[in-house]
Amino acid sequence: MITTARRMNTSGLNQGTSGNLSQRVEDGFLLTPTGMDYDALVPEDIVLMRFDGSHEGRRAPSSEWRFHRDILARRPEVGAVLHAHSMFCTTLACLRRGIPSFHYMVTTAGGADIRCAPYATFGTEELSHHAVEALEGRKACLLANHGMLALGKDLAGVFKLAVEVETLAAMYWRALQVGEPVLLDAEEMGRVIEKFKTYGQQPALKG
Ligand SMILES: [Zn+2]
Repeated sequence: MITTARRMNTSGLNQGTSGNLSQRVEDGFLLTPTGMDYDALVPEDIVLMRFDGSHEGRRAPSSEWRFHRDILARRPEVGAVLHAHSMFCTTLACLRRGIPSFHYMVTTAGGADIRCAPYATFGTEELSHHAVEALEGRKACLLANHGMLALGKDLAGVFKLAVEVETLAAMYWRALQVGEPVLLDAEEMGRVIEKFKTYGQQPALKG
């Protein structure tokens, strides 16, 4: 948890202490504490939370514990959730623009686009509701005037996806500076989604 949280800083995903990270465990989930510098974190600072919203440990959980809880409760395939105010995702989110099918790699977030959830005040049930809805059939979304969310089966997967989504946001933003990017059609995005099901899988070694 701490290693991944620190990688959020060094990779530039995090701006200040704004990000947070959770990981499913047997009887609930682990969550980063509120307002703490990740460089100073020790294991005892990580908060153990239950799905009823109660928590254990010496620190108060991230103020965004609700969307971590609700996503992990509704998406059994998800083992880790990452939230950040990364520069380019947040820039697009402030324009209330999602990321459309401008590049085939958008499918790494699960579908033909990455949605932008409507705005609600941070830490609220309403924001959590919007996030869960925008993540329907997806592994990432933007949060209007706020930031981004990525889902993964584990910490390594969620970190990798968050970096990919931020990279796509940066590319889309840059393309928008020059003109209106050409979008790939639904048929092509469907083809890419099919292709990715076997992409990167090495054949079994012979002999
Ligand atoms: Zn936030």
